[in-house]
Amino acid sequence: MILVVAEHRDGKLNRATLETIAAAQTTASPVKVAVLGSGVDAVAKEVAAADVAEVVTVDDPALKDYTADGFVLALEQLIGSENPERVFFPHTYQTRDFAPALAARVKRPLVTDCVAVKGSGYVRPMFQGKMQADVAVEGPHMATFQIGAFRADAMKSGGSAQVKNASISIDASKIRQKPEAPFKEAKQAVDLSQAERIVSVGRGIKGQEHLQLAQQLAQALGAELAASRPICDAGWLPMDRQIGSSGQTVAPKLYVALGISGAIQHLVGMKGSRTIVAINKDPEAPIFEIADYGIAGDLFEVVPAMIAELNK
Ligand SMILES: Cc1cc2nc3c(=O)[nH]c(=O)nc-3n(C[C@H](O)[C@H](O)[C@H](O)COP(=O)(O)OP(=O)(O)OC[C@H]3O[C@@H](n4cnc5c(N)ncnc54)[C@H](O)[C@@H]3O)c2cc1C
Repeated sequence: MILVVAEHRDGKLNRATLETIAAAQTTASPVKVAVLGSGVDAVAKEVAAADVAEVVTVDDPALKDYTADGFVLALEQLIGSENPERVFFPHTYQTRDFAPALAARVKRPLVTDCVAVKGSGYVRPMFQGKMQADVAVEGPHMATFQIGAFRADAMKSGGSAQVKNASISIDASKIRQKPEAPFKEAKQAVDLSQAERIVSVGRGIKGQEHLQLAQQLAQALGAELAASRPICDAGWLPMDRQIGSSGQTVAPKLYVALGISGAIQHLVGMKGSRTIVAINKDPEAPIFEIADYGIAGDLFEVVPAMIAELNK
């Protein structure tokens, strides 16, 4: 059995949780989902609509606000009682905070940032995405899944799983941390991983003064604005808008790349997008290899035409 640990905030399920359930559903094992927190009935019901065997809640005031100790204490007991062969997590900031401590506590190997399930093992990128490693694991273990590696809309739903409250009590005096505001990359950071549409600009935009063109396209599409690294390094856009191995990993429905060459460090951050549109004046640019729609042309001609068409 696979136990997927759900993540939610303010009563809203994180989309990466659905992706992780989709990952678990690619295996032949039954899937259960754990929902931790305080007052999690609504979130548990939402998860129960997925095609899973059972939803297990740990509902405790000590888990109202996330702390690493609280989650480790709760999951240690839950893993003890449910005894799943594998435990899956979305590879989020929160998971990165507590999963290593949990792995040490329950003495299970932890395979992080996986992009695929391969038999009883996993595939994960190495060296900034330049290589993919096949990782074999023996015995009960845990794995985290990169955002965008699986599609949330590939999750099989239509289930009506039972919601069970695990009888677990958490000793609040053992929680050493004080809850803090959820981690954000930078002040006023945008969470691009939740964006449905993204317009991303690269060095082909030439100058900061031309960003407003990309902004107009983003507005016409109802999209967030993002960029390749050189744009953020130059300070034309804040760092929290950078996509790639040293920026955010995103998987929107639509990713429009304007004047981005498609370096591997950029691709690893956006290749999970459902539809990729690339506009680049170099027909040999690597971005076209992963684009669903490619326009080999000057973005300063193509983008105004797109905006005009969209605004019609
Ligand atoms: C350790 C490390 C980490 C990195 N992390 C990241 C990361 O997180 N994110 C990231 O993006 N990069 C990252 N990089 C950098 C990465 O290797 C590339 O250098 C970068 O992605 C290139 O950005 P670009 O595509 O905007 O620029 P370029 O590679 O310079 O490409 C510009 C493109 O614009 C096209 N172009 C030019 N003019 C026009 C026009 N008028 N109309 C249409 N197209 C035009 C060109 O044909 C070209 O393909 C990292 C590098 C390293 C070493």
